[in-house]
Amino acid sequence: MSHEVLMSLKNISKTYTMGEVKVEALKATFLDIYREELLVILGPSGSGKSTLLNLIGGIDRPSGGQMLFGSQLLTKAGEKDLTRYRRQDVGFVFQFYNLIPDLTAAENVALAAELVDNPLAVEDVLRDVELWERRGHFPSQLSGGEQQRVAIARAIVKAPGLLLCDEPTGALDYETGKSVLRLLCDIRAKHASTVIIVTHNTAIGAMADRIVRMRSGQIAGIAVNEEPLPPERIDW
Ligand code: ADP
Repeated sequence: MSHEVLMSLKNISKTYTMGEVKVEALKATFLDIYREELLVILGPSGSGKSTLLNLIGGIDRPSGGQMLFGSQLLTKAGEKDLTRYRRQDVGFVFQFYNLIPDLTAAENVALAAELVDNPLAVEDVLRDVELWERRGHFPSQLSGGEQQRVAIARAIVKAPGLLLCDEPTGALDYETGKSVLRLLCDIRAKHASTVIIVTHNTAIGAMADRIVRMRSGQIAGIAVNEEPLPPERIDW
C-alpha cells in the first residue's frame, strides 16, 4: 500500500437541518485516503458512513472543514468544478445498483462513458465483468449479482481514480456477494484504483488495507491490516 495521499479530509462536518431539528451526521472528521488503498468503512446503521462517502464523492458538500483532492481544494470548488470532479474522478456503486431500467446493460455503461473525456472501451469493461454475452439485456432480465456487475462496469468505464462502494453486497446472497467483492479486488489490481467500501458487515474489513470504524458520526478508530485476506477466505 502506498502512503501517497490521494485525498485529505480535515475537520469535516455535516449537519442536516430538517425544520427545527439539526442532525449532526458527521462531526470533526480527519482522514487521509492513500492512493491505491482498499479502505473499508465499518459502523452500525446511522453512524455516518454514507454521509462520509457522499462527501468524499462530491455528491454532497460538508458543512465545515476542508477536503483536498491532490492539489484541488474541493471545499472551495464551484459547482462546475465539483461536477467535473464527480464525473471524471469518482465511480459510485450503490447497494441497489441504480441502473436505468429501460436501457440495456451495454447502454447503461455507454451512457456513463459519454460523461468523461477518456473512458475505457465499453466492450472491454463488459468483458471484465463477464457480461459481454448479456450486454443486450435490460436490468429486469438480470439477476441481482449481474445488475451489480453492470453497476460496477458503469463506474469503472470512466476510469476513475476513486471507486466508492456503498454496501455493494448488501442486497446480494452470500456467494454472489463474495463474487462481487472478488470483482472489486480484480478491478482494483487491474486499474490501480483506490477503492472505498462502506458496509455494516464487519467480516469485509478483513479484505481491507485499512479499516475505519464509525460511531455516532465520528471516526472511532483506524486500523491498519497488515495481511488483507482475499474475499474467498472471509466468512460471514
Ligand atoms: P449510515 O450510512 O452509517 O447508516 P448515514 O450517513 O446514512 O449513516 O446517516 C447518519 C445520520 O444522518 C443518521 O442519523 C441519518 O438519519 C442522518 N441523515 C443522513 N442523511 C440525511 C439527510 N439527507 N437529511 C437528514 N438527515 C440525514
